[in-house]
Amino acid sequence: MVRACSSCKVDKAAVKRPKTGKAVCKKCFFGLFEDEVHQTIISNKLFSKGERVAIGASGGKDSTVLAYVLSLLNRRHSYGLDLFLLSVDEGISGYRDDSLAAVQRNKVEYGLPLLVVDYKRLYGWTMDQIVQVIGRKSNCTFCGVFRRQALDRGATLLKADKVATGHNADDIAETIFLNFLRGDFPRLSRCVDAVTGRGSELPRVKPFKYTYEKEIVMYAYFKQLDYFATECVYSPNAYRGHARQFLKDLEAKRPSAIVDVIHAAEQFRFPEPGNPDVAMPVQRKCERCSYISSQRLCKACILTDSLNNGTAAQVNRFSTNKFSSNE
Ligand code: SF4
Repeated sequence: MVRACSSCKVDKAAVKRPKTGKAVCKKCFFGLFEDEVHQTIISNKLFSKGERVAIGASGGKDSTVLAYVLSLLNRRHSYGLDLFLLSVDEGISGYRDDSLAAVQRNKVEYGLPLLVVDYKRLYGWTMDQIVQVIGRKSNCTFCGVFRRQALDRGATLLKADKVATGHNADDIAETIFLNFLRGDFPRLSRCVDAVTGRGSELPRVKPFKYTYEKEIVMYAYFKQLDYFATECVYSPNAYRGHARQFLKDLEAKRPSAIVDVIHAAEQFRFPEPGNPDVAMPVQRKCERCSYISSQRLCKACILTDSLNNGTAAQVNRFSTNKFSSNE
C-alpha cells in the first residue's frame, strides 16, 4: 500500500528521510531540507546582510547542493548576500580536472562568478608532483594544509567576508570521533562549531552542520543537480574511514545517531584564549607569506620548504597530527 506523505498528508510519500525515518513526498522533502538549512543559518547567525560569501566549490555533491541551496535561500529570504564560487585546483589529474568542469557548468547554471586558485601557482607544486615525492601515505596532510590556505587566499582576492563550506553532519561527526581518539580537545571543541574564526578577518561557516549526507545525495538526485561523484585518486584516509564505518553502524541502529554525536560534542567547551590557566598559541603572521600563523613560518611555508629542500618524506613521517588542518 502506498503511504501518504507524513507532512502534507495529501501527496504520495516518495522518500523515507534518513534523518527522521519519516516518509514524505518530494515537494515536502525539498521544503523540509531547505527550511532546516535556513534554520541553521538563522539560529547560528551565519551571515549578515550585504556580506560577500565565497562558497568553497569542489564540484562534488556537498558543495554543489550548497551553492544551489544558498542561492535559493538568498533569494527566498532576502539574505542580501553576494555569492561567489571559489575552487581550488590541487593538480590531481583524472580527478580535479573533471570536478572543476562540473563547477564551470554550475557557474553558468547558477549565474555565480567563479574564481579558481591552484597549488602550482601558490606553492610551486601540484599534488601529482607531491605524491611522486612523498608517496601516498600522508599526502592528505600536505593537501589539507595547502587547501585551507588556498581557500583563504582565494577568498581574500574575492574580498569575501566569509567562506561557506559544504561540511555536512556526517563529516562533522566523523571529525569529532577523530579528534576524540587523538585526544585533541581544542580541535574537538572547534570542529563542532557552525562558525569558526568568528571575529577573525575571514570566518568559515557550515550551513550543512545538521544536514545528513544521505539527504544531500537525495536532494541532488531529485533536483538533478550536476555534480562530480568520483573520489580523489589519492584518497587513502583509512583512519577516517574507520570512524565513518563506525558511525554508519550506529546510524543503522538509530537514525539520529549522527546528530546525537554533534549535540553531545556541543557540550564540550575548551577554555577561551585569555584564560590564564591555559596556554593557547598566539596568532601572528608568517614572516614569509604573511598568512596567519602561530609560529615564525606558517604550516604551508614549512611544508613547501620541505618539498623544495628534499626533506618532505621526514616531515611527512612525523607530521600527521601536527599539521592536520581539516580536523
Ligand atoms: Fe587532497 Fe587527500 Fe582530499 Fe585527495 S583525498 S583531494 S589528496 S585531501
